[in-house]
Amino acid sequence: MRLAELFHSIQGEGKLAGVPSVFVRASGCNLRCVWCDTPYASWEPEGDDVAVDEIVRRVARFDCRHVVLTGGEPMIMPDIPALCDALRAWRDDCHVTVETAATVYKPLTLDLASLSPKLSNSTPWDRDGGRFAQAHERQRINVPVIQQFIDASPAFQLKFVVSSEQDLGEIHALLTQLRGWEPPDVLLMPEGIDAATLQSRAEWIADVCKRMGFRFCPRLHVELYGNTRGT
Ligand code: SF4
Repeated sequence: MRLAELFHSIQGEGKLAGVPSVFVRASGCNLRCVWCDTPYASWEPEGDDVAVDEIVRRVARFDCRHVVLTGGEPMIMPDIPALCDALRAWRDDCHVTVETAATVYKPLTLDLASLSPKLSNSTPWDRDGGRFAQAHERQRINVPVIQQFIDASPAFQLKFVVSSEQDLGEIHALLTQLRGWEPPDVLLMPEGIDAATLQSRAEWIADVCKRMGFRFCPRLHVELYGNTRGT
């Protein structure tokens, strides 16, 4: 699997926010979000191919049972099922989170499917001359795939990056097409890669969460470390 980075940090987002975790970041993505905070794994993918055994060896350097497979888009990596199995074989109590935009499904041994369907605020109409916009727009939401993850995963969360109140209509329209979720499975996360931007959106998003029973999703890693790679 092409690996952009592997590091030990604190999970900053979602139901496991605050939990020390090892992050394995696959390099390469089928989408091109305009606000992507890991362009080195999407717009300009970096890193070398690393074998599954070697990835597990590097993960094992940290005494940490929580492992987060992220990207980029880990689900387009051919090695991802083997990596999930190898992590479970390495340590019985290994907890694997897969962070995905949920546009591609394959069966995996995982503990938490962190699903982050991309709203229209992500489409790069003007970036790079708009050359990825049509493909991004075609692929960014795949309802049957999201439903497969919900149905097949022992636990899941639906995490939405929100930049304006207009996004709420899209979230509602998507949720009405999905089964098997409860409001606390839905997380609203402000869009932004600096504390000031996050704060400017936090209050009204928190109000929406109070009204709808959704969870407000902070970005603890930005508060702790800023938008610094590998932290
Ligand atoms: S899906 Fe994730 S990694 Fe891919 S472009 Fe969007 S934010 Fe970046």
